[in-house]
Amino acid sequence: MKVSVIGASGRVGKAAAFCLAEENVVNELVLLSREDSLDKIEGEALDMYDAMAAKNIRISIKASSNMEDIQDSHIVVIAAGIPRKAGMSRSDISKPNAEIVADYSRAIAEHSPQSIILVITNPVDVMTYVALKSSGFDKSKVFGLGNHLDSLRLKNMLAKHFNIHVNEIHTRVIGEHGDHMVPLVSSTSIGGILIKNYSLYDTLDIESMIKKVINAGSYVINKKGSTEYGPAYAIANIITTIINDEKRLFTVSAYLDGEIEGVEDVCLGVPVKLGISGIERIIRIKMNENETKAFINAAEFVKKATDEIMSNLEYF
Ligand code: NAP
Repeated sequence: MKVSVIGASGRVGKAAAFCLAEENVVNELVLLSREDSLDKIEGEALDMYDAMAAKNIRISIKASSNMEDIQDSHIVVIAAGIPRKAGMSRSDISKPNAEIVADYSRAIAEHSPQSIILVITNPVDVMTYVALKSSGFDKSKVFGLGNHLDSLRLKNMLAKHFNIHVNEIHTRVIGEHGDHMVPLVSSTSIGGILIKNYSLYDTLDIESMIKKVINAGSYVINKKGSTEYGPAYAIANIITTIINDEKRLFTVSAYLDGEIEGVEDVCLGVPVKLGISGIERIIRIKMNENETKAFINAAEFVKKATDEIMSNLEYF
């Protein structure tokens, strides 16, 4: 299995490449950046290679600034783009990032037409749509990371509040990877018990916890300049599931064609079944009234932002 990471000179790209190498599911890893950062990713590749020897992992890691080297990748990760700085929203970086994502997506279609594209660049829901349209790939092959990371953050907070192992917490955040995210509290469970039936539920201030999830990325960026490990392991989770054909459910930003609440022609975080060929199925879920309203609101917000970006992209 071959995976290529575009934007591997960046903090998220290099951390994701490292986490993925550690999973020991990839034979060939290609780190890509622009020419100016080639030295840097060559150093990263060598450093990772040494670490893999310590872990007894046999892998080929190549650094390159030539897109031809992504040929025959099963998955290509796009993590290239301008990151948010403290005080910026994800949509502040939309326009420049749409150009970057569109260019790379067309290059992926040219050099590795059978691959799956995993979009990381923010604002990820809009960028996933840009990648889908620019590559011309099937909608099952192009999706983005966003709400999986938000779901992990909510999981962590609930685990801490209830003082229960994080593995026992089953929860999901859908919608936008941003202010319009929708936590599915009505179906959240701890050890198979719906959270609302849990004796400590009354002690939970869910509204303030959701605000913390929304601001979790900014909080880390304000402290250390960027998020790295959270997105990197979330990316490794998704790729490992695909490569192992695990058929697990993940919340990724996927193109909707009316499957949930009739929402269509927009990429939004929804639960999907992931397998070797990408998205095998979008899970048609039922939500309570508030969640449905919030999901439709998120769809309207992201659709408007997407239309604006698409109308400014030269190619379309
Ligand atoms: P970073 O450390 O600044 O790295 C940026 C990367 O993008 C570098 O590899 C850089 O390559 C590349 N890049 C920048 N401008 C470019 C351009 N004009 N053309 C081609 N490549 C360019 O940023 P980061 O923290 O890794 O974040 C990368 C992206 O991921 C951001 O958009 C960020 O918001 C997003 N992100 C998403 C999630 C999520 O959950 N979806 C989580 C965290 C971050 P060079 O070395 O060649 O300049």
